[in-house]
Amino acid sequence: MARTVVPYKIKIVEPIELLSPLERQERIKDAGLNVFRLRSKYVYIDLLTDSGTGAMSHDQLSQMMLGDESYAGSESFYRLEEAIQDIMHLPFVIPVHQGRAAEQVLDHVLIQKGMVVPGNTHFDTTKAHIEFRGGRAIDCTIAEGRDATCDHPFKGNLDLGLLSQAYEKYGREQIAYVLITVTCNSGGGQPVSMKNIKEVSEFCRQNGLPVFFDAARFAENAYFIQQREDEHKNKSIRSIVREMFSCVDGCTMSAKKDGLVPIGGFLALRDEKLFEEMKPSDILFEGFYTYGGMSGMNMDAMAQGLMEVCEESYLAHRINQTAYLGQELIKREVPIVTPIGGHAVFIDGRRFYSGIPEDEFPAQLVVVEIYREGGIRAVEIGSCLAGRDPDTGHNIRPALDLCRLTIPRRVYTQEHFDYIVDVVDTVHKSGRSRRKGLAFDMETKGIRHFTSTFKEL
Ligand SMILES: *Cc1c(COP(=O)(O)O)cnc(C)c1O
Repeated sequence: MARTVVPYKIKIVEPIELLSPLERQERIKDAGLNVFRLRSKYVYIDLLTDSGTGAMSHDQLSQMMLGDESYAGSESFYRLEEAIQDIMHLPFVIPVHQGRAAEQVLDHVLIQKGMVVPGNTHFDTTKAHIEFRGGRAIDCTIAEGRDATCDHPFKGNLDLGLLSQAYEKYGREQIAYVLITVTCNSGGGQPVSMKNIKEVSEFCRQNGLPVFFDAARFAENAYFIQQREDEHKNKSIRSIVREMFSCVDGCTMSAKKDGLVPIGGFLALRDEKLFEEMKPSDILFEGFYTYGGMSGMNMDAMAQGLMEVCEESYLAHRINQTAYLGQELIKREVPIVTPIGGHAVFIDGRRFYSGIPEDEFPAQLVVVEIYREGGIRAVEIGSCLAGRDPDTGHNIRPALDLCRLTIPRRVYTQEHFDYIVDVVDTVHKSGRSRRKGLAFDMETKGIRHFTSTFKEL
């Protein structure tokens, strides 16, 4: 058996507490069966998200002490810019406070009413920003990406056929840009192959379409390329990352993921004209274009984080933690999406509770039950999150109704994972005969999964 190498040791700890079963019952009831409404102190192991929840390194903390808090021309910005140029080889950097802010700045400039953005299962805020500008997201993910059990190494890939259909229908004028999300978060943290990135890029170049990465997990995607795509297996992560970014016109980035910081983001661009066009939007929405809503300390921590996230030992450990959790669940016959993605394990709600009708939110019920059983907070990525069609108002029925166990970076140990496995296994075994799920108690408009409440049927 291969030995596990953990490339860090623990220097500072944060106490966590497991409430009694009775208290957990009460807390989740008070929260309207919606874990977004729970106070974090009521949570024992928090797998809500990997966004901004990672542990920082002592190098990041010491870099923060260099933070230059100047309004304009901050040295911290130039260090961040240099790190991004070095890693991604994109020359122009616009700092923003998080990923959705990058989306807002980009879409403000590139999207006009009636335009579309083809891509591979757009992230929820990404889709919402596109719609907010009067545009529409068009999902061009390969069919395998919508099948929970099919074994494809790159289920985040785009279908070139669907992409050219979109091109034929909307043409160059109506397509704002093409977006490749690496890894594909809403599609199960599934990677996109270098081959596919190159094909999409080539298609876009031939047809004069701009192409961007939603780069939140670019390093994790690069690791999967190294592990799964034969011709890249002897390349370093750094060189794979550069090759990936050589295919696009720029990226939006939520540094709360592969920037290894609690808050932060940026846009990186190849075209100077576009850069100049975006500066005023950055100033309007985020702050001056050498801080964009971040402190100098924040930018220095991110510059260091971007370098650490590309280290092979870090990535191997990170991806293997996720794989460990997934494999242990598979051993216990818990239905999960395979292959296992980068940042999370996704439980298939419809198979987990096969007796519960699809429109009674089975994945949301899994989330509720694993909190009740073990104080673990997961999140639904399914029918509730999918929301309603903006044109018809009907509930969208997504291909998969998932409960996501998201792994924060460098935070939990194997003991935590063994606990999680035991809790999920127990909930699974005891829930086989359930026939009734959940309904909305109060459904909020817009991005409804954050604030709505549920009742048991
Ligand atoms: C998190 C995320 C975003 C949005 O970033 P925030 O920092 O949360 O605003 C966009 N795209 C993807 C793929 C993400 O995972």
